[in-house]
Amino acid sequence: MAKINGNYLELQGSYLFAEIAKRRTKFMSENPGADIISLGIGDVTRPLTPAVVSSLHAGVDEMSNEKTFRGYGPEQGYDFLIETIIEHDYKARGISLEKNEVFVSDGSKCDVGNIQEIFSQDSIVAVMDPVYPVYVDSNVMAGRAGHFNPETKRYDGIVYIPTHAENQFIPSLPTQKVDLIYLCYPNNPTGMTLSKEELKKWVDYARDNKCVILYDSAYEAYIQEEDVPHSIYEVEGAKEVAIEFRSFSKTAGFTGVRCAYTVVPRELKAYDESGNAVALNDLWNRRQTTKFNGVSYITQVGAAAVYTEEGRQQIKQLVDYYMTNAKMIRDGLASLGLEVFGGVNAPYIWLKTPNGLSSWEFFDKLLTEANIVGTPGVGFGRNGEGYFRLTAFGSRENTQRALERINKLSL
Ligand code: PLP
Repeated sequence: MAKINGNYLELQGSYLFAEIAKRRTKFMSENPGADIISLGIGDVTRPLTPAVVSSLHAGVDEMSNEKTFRGYGPEQGYDFLIETIIEHDYKARGISLEKNEVFVSDGSKCDVGNIQEIFSQDSIVAVMDPVYPVYVDSNVMAGRAGHFNPETKRYDGIVYIPTHAENQFIPSLPTQKVDLIYLCYPNNPTGMTLSKEELKKWVDYARDNKCVILYDSAYEAYIQEEDVPHSIYEVEGAKEVAIEFRSFSKTAGFTGVRCAYTVVPRELKAYDESGNAVALNDLWNRRQTTKFNGVSYITQVGAAAVYTEEGRQQIKQLVDYYMTNAKMIRDGLASLGLEVFGGVNAPYIWLKTPNGLSSWEFFDKLLTEANIVGTPGVGFGRNGEGYFRLTAFGSRENTQRALERINKLSL
């Protein structure tokens, strides 16, 4: 008899986006002509940049010629892309990496979801609350989260570290033993960042306690302020304790193309049952070569174009476009007296709902009175209650129109 992985039954339904869709559909059926603007989902709307497009075309041409055709590539990614990544994303910031420390993949979601496989079943996992749900759910599937408690609205096996306005969204170090720590900066959903000094506290903690930090930096390209670290490896000693995830999705509009990379430094070790140190780089390499067959050559050629001079200028314009939206949203909401966070080094604006409305009450108000769809903060965790996420990924025109509508609301 085939039995299921019972851990899957511990997963909570993907309540957030299902519930958003349900409420939106109901509203649309009752108001058929409504012109809904979505500032909810974290997906980009601008097309690929010209440098990337012409590089993708060149890749297709190579694949259509017998002499330049390529079949399976290295599972870890082609050297031409890895070398460019190291040169521009790391060496330029004083961080040295070897080629075998960078693993190109088809997305950070897969990598942050899969990485837990190389750690022991009994690892204790810490996440921030609110949190990008993949960190939690992938550990639920692996059986590390224990049971979901409907009263606390939390898994009893996971350590949740609250971030909210009262602690300036700066998480405190865990007060109980943990083994794996997921950090996401710039943060989804709050749009907030950590200073190098704050990040150093986590690195030092991980070094002192033999933990591993899983550092999701999918929004790194949106950092605008000088003093915000772009990579955890800017902190001394971080290579001993951290894996870093980066993605071309939000950087270069690759959400539908799919390319990302993960850095697993050679120095990074975790321990076997007898306490012997084992290089995680070897384990991740083994995992990837067994279960992953590389990103398409065409995609990698396209991703490499992001780093050409022309490519870099175009990416900057793309990021500037979204960050102008972010500033418009931030300033627009603040001028109405709302408390807003994020949106300075990230494409997410996290706002405190007015008049003590719950996240869902504010969702309904925006939907019914302004025909705008956003994301209720509580969907990202218990501490997101009373907050709401808007994204800067819409078009300029829709962002402007949404703000005009919000302006007319009585808040
Ligand atoms: N990490 C975070 C924090 C995200 O918000 C997202 C996408 O929304 C991802 C990872 C997924 O990135 P990718 O498109 O590379 O899978």
